Amino acid sequence: MKIEQAERLKAVPRYLFAEIDRMKGEVASRGIDIISLGIGDPDLPTPDHIVERLIAAARNPRHHQYPSYEGMPAFREAISNWYDRRFRTALDPDTEVVSLIGSKEGIAHTPLAFVNPGDVVLCPDPGYPVYSISTLFAGGEVHPMPLLAKNSFLPDLGAIPARIAKKAKIMFLNYPNNPTAASIPKGFFEEVVDFAGRYQILVCHDAAYTEIYFDENDPPPSFLQTPGASEVGIEFGSLSKPFNMTGWRIGWACGNAEAIKGLGKIKTNIDSGIFQAIQEAGIEALSGDQASLSGLRKIYRARRDMACDTFSRLGFSFQVPKATFYLWIQTPEGQSSAQFAARILNETGVILTPGNGFGKYGEGFFRVSLTLGENRLSEALARIESAGL
Ligand SMILES: *Cc1c(COP(=O)(O)O)cnc(C)c1O
Repeated sequence: MKIEQAERLKAVPRYLFAEIDRMKGEVASRGIDIISLGIGDPDLPTPDHIVERLIAAARNPRHHQYPSYEGMPAFREAISNWYDRRFRTALDPDTEVVSLIGSKEGIAHTPLAFVNPGDVVLCPDPGYPVYSISTLFAGGEVHPMPLLAKNSFLPDLGAIPARIAKKAKIMFLNYPNNPTAASIPKGFFEEVVDFAGRYQILVCHDAAYTEIYFDENDPPPSFLQTPGASEVGIEFGSLSKPFNMTGWRIGWACGNAEAIKGLGKIKTNIDSGIFQAIQEAGIEALSGDQASLSGLRKIYRARRDMACDTFSRLGFSFQVPKATFYLWIQTPEGQSSAQFAARILNETGVILTPGNGFGKYGEGFFRVSLTLGENRLSEALARIESAGL
């Protein structure tokens, strides 16, 4: 029997890192030790007090049954209290918060709840691939919003044609941004609220990196603290990056109650929520000692400074990021993202992520991920430096 994939699966764009994967094997077979600056997954462990809370909770048989799909009331309350402390934003834990099996899960299910075939979804390009792929799965049409260096990697809302905006159901945004490492300037979310209200577009802000910032006096905002935001949008939160919990699969969506209800309806029909012991650990992360966060920021800051030093000395062009654990750097004149990444891998064994893997407007850039200890990072940087670019 021939097992034929559905059209929606065939429509998934070609895996752009396949060439890098193939080359990686080839370079390793020459005996070269590979160092990856390509992975957006923290290398550090989850803080101890969070792990301890999971262990204790896992022993409680009350947690061994199906959880409630929307999340334990205590977990949703912890999220609401955290928003209040961190962003001075009030959320009703009963109607304005839903738990997610990682924010990726919620992002992937959102178009299913709100997009009809032929509807448009506005997606940042370059961007986290889940926005556009989940749009395709729901039968929607992706309209890319280019994130260009000349616009500080913000979408130009004025450049979206009115006929597209009228057909748009969702706008995905993500600040601090992956992959460009850009932060949001004051005033931009206000423009977004205005635009979304005018065209009746649900804003879905991916807030995965709001806690990974370097200036303790200037923490990144939540979209929901913008006046009018909860009328037009929701925000995706995640414990993955601030607490090194990518493997635990826990996050949330919060904001507009109607939108949260729609997403919740999809989820009740697909999954059965997060293991309650993990939700207990999530409560510990949000409500317990926050000291690990400032330590984490110091570590990423030191790595950022180290990497920025090297790439500036080598004459590369980039903005020093105020947040995230990425650098987004222009490839040398005349070299495509793929050519440059291939050359570095071949000559040094260091993996960089070619920018075109995040969308066509990522062409001409590469992403460096700082999720590597300082010894390995400095080894990688030294190799790039000695490659004589
Ligand atoms: C890492 C990341 C997430 C977090 O995903 P989880 O599913 O919560 O682990 C979401 N969005 C972006 C842009 C990311 O880089």
